[in-house]
Amino acid sequence: VVTESVYLNSLVLDVLTLNSEKITNQNIKIKFDAQEDYYIESDHFLVITILRNIISNAIKYSNKDGEVNVILSRQNEKINCKISDNGIGIAKQDLESISNPFFRSNSTDHPEIKGTGLGLSIVKRITELLHIKFKIESEIEVGTTVILSFNEKMQTLS
Ligand code: ATP
Ligand code: MG
Repeated sequence: VVTESVYLNSLVLDVLTLNSEKITNQNIKIKFDAQEDYYIESDHFLVITILRNIISNAIKYSNKDGEVNVILSRQNEKINCKISDNGIGIAKQDLESISNPFFRSNSTDHPEIKGTGLGLSIVKRITELLHIKFKIESEIEVGTTVILSFNEKMQTLS
């Protein structure tokens, strides 16, 4: 773990670019909203790993012509990143298990969507390690919202 300035706006744009083929193929409408250039003191690789997993889930579990919104905002010394989709959603009873390694929630209803079930377990471990708040809200067939809350000053091992 290293400490460096991690520029969140450009990191979000990088992750969206990495997913551009899927965005085009599924005809997903992307909205990205940020009032400032936000940055935190953290580890670039760990933060991009979190965002890659969350944003690629939002796209992967979207319906065709779906919408994915990414909003960066500030609340005092906290920087929040909210990623929401209007995709297939997660059943209430699965929400508490969703970050367990290899757990996959929609695998029976949507066998065509492939994955290993590891992404969110990795996100959970990194957010614990860096003391980043991580919350998932979801409703089946309505969509999913993930909220990450970073501490602007220091988001490292301590
Ligand atoms: P991978 O390891 O390739 O990321 P995965 O996407 O199946 O595989 P996770 O990212 O850990 O695994 O997600 C776990 C499960 O949570 C998924 O299988 C899916 O059922 C559910 N899930 C995660 N994000 C969303 C989302 N945005 N919308 C609906 N379901 C989701
Ligand atoms: Mg995933």
